Amino acid sequence: MYDVIVCGAGPAGSVAATVLSRGGARVLLLDRARFPRPKLCGDTMNPGTVAILRRLGLTAGFEPSALPVDGMIVTGERGVCVRAAYEGAARGLAIERRALDAALLQAAVAAGARVEEGVLVRGPLIETTGRAARVRGIVTAATCACPRRSSSPPTAGGRGSRRRSDWRASRGVRGDGRSARTSRTSRT
Ligand SMILES: Cc1cc2nc3c(=O)[nH]c(=O)nc-3n(C[C@H](O)[C@H](O)[C@H](O)COP(=O)(O)OP(=O)(O)OC[C@H]3O[C@@H](n4cnc5c(N)ncnc54)[C@H](O)[C@@H]3O)c2cc1C
Repeated sequence: MYDVIVCGAGPAGSVAATVLSRGGARVLLLDRARFPRPKLCGDTMNPGTVAILRRLGLTAGFEPSALPVDGMIVTGERGVCVRAAYEGAARGLAIERRALDAALLQAAVAAGARVEEGVLVRGPLIETTGRAARVRGIVTAATCACPRRSSSPPTAGGRGSRRRSDWRASRGVRGDGRSARTSRTSRT
């Protein structure tokens, strides 16, 4: 039994898992991918994002290999081009998401979160008692039968088995980006 299951280990999910684990919660962080994995992105972080990650002490794992960014140039159709510089000494960072996301995931592990990669979240685990239905956890399936690489020992029915697994927790956090399988399923 976990206090929180975080679905999706992109920046949102990994940072949420880190903060919750540091606060003493028992956290399970799930992702269908295996890290490091590529992610379509412009690979830049604005100064506000960098400031938040610094405040949380999460930049050490990637900042040495990142490039400073002092603004942006946005181009569009018919030669439209807008240049904007960040104010004063503010700087963003550019780094491949493959490296950024892996570093943030590693920070979640270091904070105590259990990470399971190659696990597809299918939707919420709903239990019905009388007329009341409550979300009790998450239903998952393995995405492939590759060897395990997780921060914890294997669990029966977990990744590698292709079978459905139920993971229980009192809270869930959606970090599955635009795919939002958890939210679509919870509405049905
Ligand atoms: C072309 C493009 C360029 C962009 N450029 C920039 C940029 O330069 N700077 C910027 O700040 N933002 C940029 N963005 C936006 C940025 O990519 C997103 O805001 C950011 O990735 C959101 O982070 P997230 O953690 O919420 O989700 P994601 O990064 O999408 O992570 C979601 C994670 O959930 C996992 N997942 C999804 N569904 C499931 C499931 N059912 N079961 C298990 N795991 C699941 C995925 O494998 C993934 O690892 C860009 C986006 C695009 C499309």
